[in-house]
Amino acid sequence: GAARFVAVSDVSEPLDRLVADLQDAMREPIQCQGEHISLRCSIGVVQEHIASADAAALMRCSDLALIRAREAGGGRCRFYDEGMDVEIRRMHALRGDFARALADNELELFYQPKINLVDHKVSGVEALIRWRRADGYMAPGEFFPAIEHTDLMRELDWWVMSEALRHSSVWMAQGKLIPVSVNLSAMTLRHESFLPRIQALIMRHPIPDGHLELEVLETVSQKEAEEIVHKLESCREFGISIALDDFGTGASSLVHLQQLPFDTIKIDQRFVRKLLKAPGNEAIIRSMISFAHYTGRKLVVEGVESQPIWDRLLEIGCTSGQGYAISAPVSASGLMDWLAEREETVALKSA
Ligand code: C2E
Ligand code: CA
Ligand code: CA
Repeated sequence: GAARFVAVSDVSEPLDRLVADLQDAMREPIQCQGEHISLRCSIGVVQEHIASADAAALMRCSDLALIRAREAGGGRCRFYDEGMDVEIRRMHALRGDFARALADNELELFYQPKINLVDHKVSGVEALIRWRRADGYMAPGEFFPAIEHTDLMRELDWWVMSEALRHSSVWMAQGKLIPVSVNLSAMTLRHESFLPRIQALIMRHPIPDGHLELEVLETVSQKEAEEIVHKLESCREFGISIALDDFGTGASSLVHLQQLPFDTIKIDQRFVRKLLKAPGNEAIIRSMISFAHYTGRKLVVEGVESQPIWDRLLEIGCTSGQGYAISAPVSASGLMDWLAEREETVALKSA
């Protein structure tokens, strides 16, 4: 392959010794156009007595081990074992099931309300995908590994956007103006068809400006910045808002982030959930609040799980949030019940 090599050896020395020697040899700096370059390599090893001995099977098994070595962060080595096969087969089966579920309408959008932490007014909802299965709903964390980096991920994103806009139109017809946020994966945003498709979608479901928000991950924006910046700017011209999701987890520099076209910062729940336990998190949140303030962006915190966290967030100046202490993600009809119940409580309080 392009930068892939196969070594076959009748090993007499211990295997881990051989692997270490190979890695050392790769790391040896080489001279290239006057510069010293040092390379890293990932290694996948298969031993003949573990897999069946034909060449194709050995190649496939070493490839699986190589994939695992790369996933472990690169520069590592992994030995093939049968568990890897079982896992790959499980992923294949899940992918097939998911493709069928998408075609058979077994997916459902749940919505998590986002509120003003001071006056409790609902400012929008985030659409979160769920897969309806015989044994209950499956959350994305369980099936994304099977569809990530495949066309199914893009298909899912378009299904979600169109379904969220459909729900939103129904709510509008009932007199409820609820802005909807949708998570967008990097591969959908990068695809050349992104802009024409989103424009067509907006024409089909006309909505007020700022009513649809796309949540993109901070890491998306660092790579291929120019092309993505242009796409995000065009979205804003169509009246779509942009939020940078999981802010603070992608290790982008603030100088870089500041230049990106987005309206809202979403502070990742991992800083918020442990707000009261790890003082470092409060310092990080405070610095994000200043960043949002000075660059004129809105700020939303995720993971408001308890009243003490809620109270502390208010003390340090966060006024918009979502999390289990407000509401877990609920079905579309559940959302309507939740809203009605709140209206009642607010009415009772003011009576
Ligand atoms: P995210 O965008 O960070 O979404 C928030 C996740 O945190 C959701 O998990 C939500 O259920 C969970 N959550 C909400 N409040 C709390 C809380 O107070 N405490 C804790 N511990 N968790 C809370 P979910 O629905 O499992 O989604 C996981 C991730 O999957 C999302 O993270 C998002 O990145 C992705 N995702 C979800 N739906 C979609 C989708 O329709 N399209 C795409 N592309 N990605 C999606
Ligand atoms: Ca999100
Ligand atoms: Ca998030």
